Amino acid sequence: MSLPVLSNIDINNTAIPGGIAVVDFYTKHKHPTAFYSNVPVYVQHQKDTHWQALIGIPLLAKIGDKQLIVKGVSEQKIAFNIKPHHYKEQRITLTGKNKKYLNPNLKQRDRIIRERPILTAARSTFSAQALSHSNFIRPVSGITTSTFGLKRFYNNQARRPHTGLDYAGKIGTPIQAVARGKIIVSDKFFFNGNTVFIDHGQGLISLYLHMNERLVKPGQIINQGDIIGTIGQTGRATGPHLHFGVYLNTVVINPTILIKDGAK
Ligand SMILES: [Zn+2]
Repeated sequence: MSLPVLSNIDINNTAIPGGIAVVDFYTKHKHPTAFYSNVPVYVQHQKDTHWQALIGIPLLAKIGDKQLIVKGVSEQKIAFNIKPHHYKEQRITLTGKNKKYLNPNLKQRDRIIRERPILTAARSTFSAQALSHSNFIRPVSGITTSTFGLKRFYNNQARRPHTGLDYAGKIGTPIQAVARGKIIVSDKFFFNGNTVFIDHGQGLISLYLHMNERLVKPGQIINQGDIIGTIGQTGRATGPHLHFGVYLNTVVINPTILIKDGAK
């Protein structure tokens, strides 16, 4: 039996920082596992003994030769290569009450530190079973106003690069789950505002930030296209929009790679 797989990935162009390296391997084992930097990665069956690993590459990864460890009938070491990619700069001005997100006070810093392990645990979730085998649909129909990987400067201060896709939309616009999965977080955070994480299995996680309302609870199984909340402007957001992000093997990657019709 051949399973439907995530098939939208451009094997020749996505093995870049912030992308997905697709690495073929062969084993007679029925349930092989594979690891990159000691973290389990997404594997999908192709045909007979042919399997593929989908490896999320960190935005700050050094380019060059890397190694995938496959544990099947025996252990295999498989080399693959990360190519360079240039991401553009983006300069953002925060004014008025939004300035608190640039230099949080002591109480806000305490909150940020308290929230950090919850967010780390969420993106490190690894469920052995894939909960979805399909490519993602778009979470909203609006236009993308900020792409993945932009090197960001807030009021001329360098900050972390942009780690998702921003979709513009009116407050209250419904947001749909991009694929089937299980809700692992539905909560409000300092920077992220109202936030939902969905586990799609095998380390593939989607997240939705700055929502106005959250309409789901942790533990709930939702299907592709189910409404999980609405567009808002909560947390560090200079206008109403959805920030949509994707994690793979704990690494934040460019969601465009997994969305069926891409996102321009
Ligand atoms: Zn964003």
